[in-house]
Amino acid sequence: MAIVCCVAQAATPPHFDGDRALELVAAQVALGPRSSEPARGAALSLYRQQLSGANSLTAHTFNWQWRQLPLRRGTNLLASFGPPDSTEQWLLAAHWDTRPIADHDPDPSRVAEPISGANDGGSGVAVLLHLAELMAAQPPPVRVDIALFDLEDLGAIDGQPYSIGAHQFVADHPDYRPDGGILLDMVCDRELSIPRERYSQRYAGKLQDRLWALAAQLGLSAIVERPGGAVSDDHLAFLRAGIPMVNLIHYPFPASWHTHADTLAQCSATSLAQVGELVSAFIYSAGDQ
Ligand SMILES: [Zn+2]
Repeated sequence: MAIVCCVAQAATPPHFDGDRALELVAAQVALGPRSSEPARGAALSLYRQQLSGANSLTAHTFNWQWRQLPLRRGTNLLASFGPPDSTEQWLLAAHWDTRPIADHDPDPSRVAEPISGANDGGSGVAVLLHLAELMAAQPPPVRVDIALFDLEDLGAIDGQPYSIGAHQFVADHPDYRPDGGILLDMVCDRELSIPRERYSQRYAGKLQDRLWALAAQLGLSAIVERPGGAVSDDHLAFLRAGIPMVNLIHYPFPASWHTHADTLAQCSATSLAQVGELVSAFIYSAGDQ
């Protein structure tokens, strides 16, 4: 007679499919640069559709006015998964907008054109959209929110700041207090290398240590044990509000950064899978710590 075991087991994370994530990068790139219409509206429709398995999906819209530039309207999306009454709550985020200029392109005649943003914009979102599919099918043990932030990449254009959407979100939601967050930015490069981003290390060191230990345990070679840069990105809005958030970002930035070479051809399903596997393992083991 068999004895059926009764020991509670940690949830096995669902399989994160790098090819599926790469398809979701391609779907965004196919819409065109997400810096102007009609691609922006089409991208938001795609995201809403991909996030439709969430418990709740809310849009946070805001206006952005800078000096004499035309008024811009920004849209952040927030989707929630897992038990809504969970005492533990994690935020996964990426920026969805793409840079409207290619200021690092080697061809001066094309600097004024918007970039495709396969890696810078598309990749982090693609990982989160695939995780959304996985979480809709197999809810995580704790509450997990996905935030897609707008207007990250106007930084230094006519003196504008980076991360307008993330700062606006934090300012407009003072009661939003997750236990911490993970930010994904530029995570698809074929030579992906993610060191310890410095603001994260200083202000979210414990969480960064947990992620790096988990990556080592999983044998993820793209997550490397060396100091990275201090990067102005969406996590700073949360760090300033006292919410620990770790930025997983390729550093030094790849040669395609803010150029017309930031295309699907630079992206790798294997790289996306490493980042997806790390985040998936983290959220499905949450609640055990
Ligand atoms: Zn950028």
